[in-house]
Amino acid sequence: MGLGREILRVFGWYSRGALPDAEVPEPRPTRVLEPVGPASETPSARGAFANHEPLPTETDVAMMRRALELAREAAGMGEVPVGAVVYETATGRVLAEGFNRRESDRDPTAHAELLAMREACRVKGDWRLDDCTVVVTLEPCPMCAGVIVNARVGRLVFGASDPRAGACGSLMSLTNDGRLNHRVVPVAGVLAEECGAVLRAFFASLRRSDRPAKPRG
Ligand SMILES: [Zn+2]
Repeated sequence: MGLGREILRVFGWYSRGALPDAEVPEPRPTRVLEPVGPASETPSARGAFANHEPLPTETDVAMMRRALELAREAAGMGEVPVGAVVYETATGRVLAEGFNRRESDRDPTAHAELLAMREACRVKGDWRLDDCTVVVTLEPCPMCAGVIVNARVGRLVFGASDPRAGACGSLMSLTNDGRLNHRVVPVAGVLAEECGAVLRAFFASLRRSDRPAKPRG
């Protein structure tokens, strides 16, 4: 089984026709709701943020554009195109960037946002990312959502929702579970159409060529 087929097998949610191209991943428009402020943090049965979804800032959108560039770079290496940026929320300073390197590194944990979070921690010299924003083109999986909780990430911004593996609202909400010791309400759907299009184009090209999209020489 060649690499291309392997990728298609692993990402069967794109390849098996269970979901037509047009539906995968479903872009999720950013809802326009009243901004989250101190007044909204009155405890309720479902938690302070139950009815409030935070809005993206201009910096978030700019960082998502950079994450998209990184995703395209990954695609050029035959990697499923997901890109991520971690920046200091208050200053907008980029601490780390990453893209999916699972094939290149032969590492199931080499997801874009996880690599970026590790690097950001190294740069900060701290395992806590409470003053940081993680921006990623695809909704984080359970593994990455777990790291987001464990690193106490202050803000999470993602692009396309992932109906097959998303753990930040699609299949589950690990990042917003009151039973865990940290919560971050994701800013979802930022440039979702573009983020999803990069993934769709990648898998469409794999299907067309039906040959391995070989990473590097
Ligand atoms: Zn992940």
